[in-house]
Amino acid sequence: MKRVIILGCTGSIGSTALEAIRTKHLDLQVVGLSAHTNAPQLIASAHEFSAQAICLTSTTLEEVSSLNTYSYFSGLERMLHSLDADIVLNAIAGFDGLRASLAALECGFDLALANKESVVCAGPYLFEIAKKYGSTIIPVDSEHSAIAELLKGHERQQVQSLIITASGGPFRTLDADHFAAITVEQALAHPTWNMGKKISIDSATLANKALEVIEASHLFGFDADHIEVVVHPQSIVHSMIRTRDGAVYAQLGNPDMTLPIVNALCTGSPSLVKPMDFTNLSLTFEQPDFKRFPLLGLAFEILRRKGSSALAFNAADEVAVHAFLARKISYPALVQIVMRTLDQKWDEEIDSFEHILALDAKARMVARSLI
Ligand code: NDP
Ligand code: MG
Repeated sequence: MKRVIILGCTGSIGSTALEAIRTKHLDLQVVGLSAHTNAPQLIASAHEFSAQAICLTSTTLEEVSSLNTYSYFSGLERMLHSLDADIVLNAIAGFDGLRASLAALECGFDLALANKESVVCAGPYLFEIAKKYGSTIIPVDSEHSAIAELLKGHERQQVQSLIITASGGPFRTLDADHFAAITVEQALAHPTWNMGKKISIDSATLANKALEVIEASHLFGFDADHIEVVVHPQSIVHSMIRTRDGAVYAQLGNPDMTLPIVNALCTGSPSLVKPMDFTNLSLTFEQPDFKRFPLLGLAFEILRRKGSSALAFNAADEVAVHAFLARKISYPALVQIVMRTLDQKWDEEIDSFEHILALDAKARMVARSLI
């Protein structure tokens, strides 16, 4: 039995993980849980899965009988240090998830990482911490989970490039002339995946794919010239690798996060998802439109620039998406705020968590001033 702590258990990924543990008879025991605001659901899940400890990160959590309760991020760190566990699933949304990733690694736990912001913002620093404490980082993002599986069958030097698939989002075929009229509801309506609000908006601007390009580069050690993005509206091919002999290997599956989540937590689980049905299945691919979706192209530029521009990209995007969701800015303004924030120089190399916090605050200030 593997002991797991699930952070962000009330969100889309966290709930999918709990649903899999509830219904798939996995060899997993939930020992700790966290949520940010949803205390009732956190407590209900803790009772259902007989967890030992829970943490609410946004405010003070009252004592709950038979559970060790913690509050705020300082409490989350204490909870992690207090528990005996094998693996932490970090399904927290946004930059704040980085602090949780670092704390989990420092406890020596393996880290099943859905929070892509941790990799994007901390870059090599995150992997240094993992190495220092002997922890392994396992990707949960479906594209990266697919690539990790595909790379298992190949020598690193045989692999020419990683091919990350993108659904193209809800505006894949929309003329740029109509972008100014895009509503929050339209941007949230993802054609193939059901996800949290932030990542749904990022899928509409392709900022999510930009984050994933940067994430893939750090996870697998491929530079900007050896990562490709191909638009695949059906989201059946989760990603591919191109080998030097010219072949392309792909992982296929229905759009369901159960497989990548469970594969990160444990191995050898039978019948996790519905078998692929090839009746009337047609798969199409197209090149991404970097002109209508400039944030995707920015990711490749960021990888070439190095320094801390990835962190600035994430911070500006979080600020701009927040303002868009609050209906303060339009869809084109969201994109422009991120682009303009990156016009500044972000060439400082990151050397500590405090440095990351300072640079993140600076980038947020720049983005806010543009709003
Ligand atoms: P959701 O918004 O659905 O859920 C976020 C979870 O994190 C909730 O449990 C929420 O708690 C908690 N949370 C929110 N803000 C904070 C904060 N500031 N500090 C601590 N906890 C917080 O997000 P998703 O599940 O969609 O995404 C989670 C992560 O996984 C993101 O990094 C995303 O990019 C990544 N991911 C998601 C995929 C998906 O299919 N959804 C696919 C691939 C990656 P509460 O509800 O109590 O407020
Ligand atoms: Mg993804």
